[in-house]
Amino acid sequence: SLAPIECDALVVGAGPVGLFQVFQLGLLEISCHVVDARPSAGGQCSQLYGDKPIYDIPGTPVTTGTGLVESLLRQVEPFAPHFHFGQQVSTLERQDDGRLLLGTSRGQSFLARTVYIAAGVGAFLPRHIALPGLPDFEGTRLFYHPESLERFAGQTVVVQGGDDEALAAALALVDRAAQVTLVHRRDVFQADETLQAQVRAAIRAGQIKLVIGQPSAFDAHRMQLETPEGASLHLELDAWLAYPGISPRLGPIADWGLQLARKQVPVDTERFQTCEPGVFAVGDVNTYPGKKKLIVCGFHEATLAAWAGAAIVFPDKAIPLQYTTTSTRLHELLGVD
Ligand code: FAD
Repeated sequence: SLAPIECDALVVGAGPVGLFQVFQLGLLEISCHVVDARPSAGGQCSQLYGDKPIYDIPGTPVTTGTGLVESLLRQVEPFAPHFHFGQQVSTLERQDDGRLLLGTSRGQSFLARTVYIAAGVGAFLPRHIALPGLPDFEGTRLFYHPESLERFAGQTVVVQGGDDEALAAALALVDRAAQVTLVHRRDVFQADETLQAQVRAAIRAGQIKLVIGQPSAFDAHRMQLETPEGASLHLELDAWLAYPGISPRLGPIADWGLQLARKQVPVDTERFQTCEPGVFAVGDVNTYPGKKKLIVCGFHEATLAAWAGAAIVFPDKAIPLQYTTTSTRLHELLGVD
């Protein structure tokens, strides 16, 4: 594993609240490292409603999930946060010197003076299919929710799943792949009606072969399946595109000793600190009397958590409240005149 990165502040989660946490810490002259399990920033705003309008961001009558994330990323630019994407923070431990040691799924570790958990409802990670040896084929034969279908041109492809994403992939491959087989555990799809009708038509036309069953073994070229009637089948393939769904998982945070209450982290409403000094929790992940899971509330929480964090990072400094409108120091930090 890699040498630990020493930092004043580590933000867990780059959703809207984690991003605004970076901004508030930046105004207080605390620079951050940010880790997110996803390949990019935005949390639920990007994952669940990127192109939908949102109307209750203060001072912004309307934007979209993606628009909001873009604005937040632009807002934190002056503070040049270090982003570490595609890795989940998996461990958190207190060191003898009081600092917090955090480790990620990719073997990166951090020694942080303060930690801000902005993990929302958890990391949105693709579910994985549990079959012996299967992880060895990931990225070569087996592809979970592939971002592009281009590489499968001319191949014999098995698409597994029954939701919108799986059906759309099967249809998109009809004219590109050599052969398309759709595998699902039952002959019922959980998808948009129009999409279902298109897929059923393609099945009738022989463009997509439908196989009902559950994969039970795989050896790089052959998928073995069990049908609902208990029979065994084999499918030859070049690529297995799996769509088992994406689910949010709080995952390792549940093991950090933070006294979870119904999968949320209890905090006080002065500092938004957890039961661990220097470990704050903001946004959808926390709970306190009156908690509302709204972005505007998360922004307030992040602001107060940043001030409480500054008292730990700069224990001997009295920090005055300054306005971004008038403070020359803040203008310097923001890189404006
Ligand atoms: P999230 O957005 O959930 O982001 C958390 C991030 O943390 C994720 O990117 C995740 O990958 C990452 N993460 C989690 N665990 C780990 C880990 N261990 N290691 C590394 N990374 C981790 N709110 C409003 O105010 N107005 C609205 O109109 C509105 N509309 C909504 C519509 C829908 C359909 C949904 C689902 C929600 C809506 N919300 C709305 C709620 C709003 O999206 C959430 O309150 C907000 O996203 C919470 O932000 P967050 O940063 O706390 O968490």
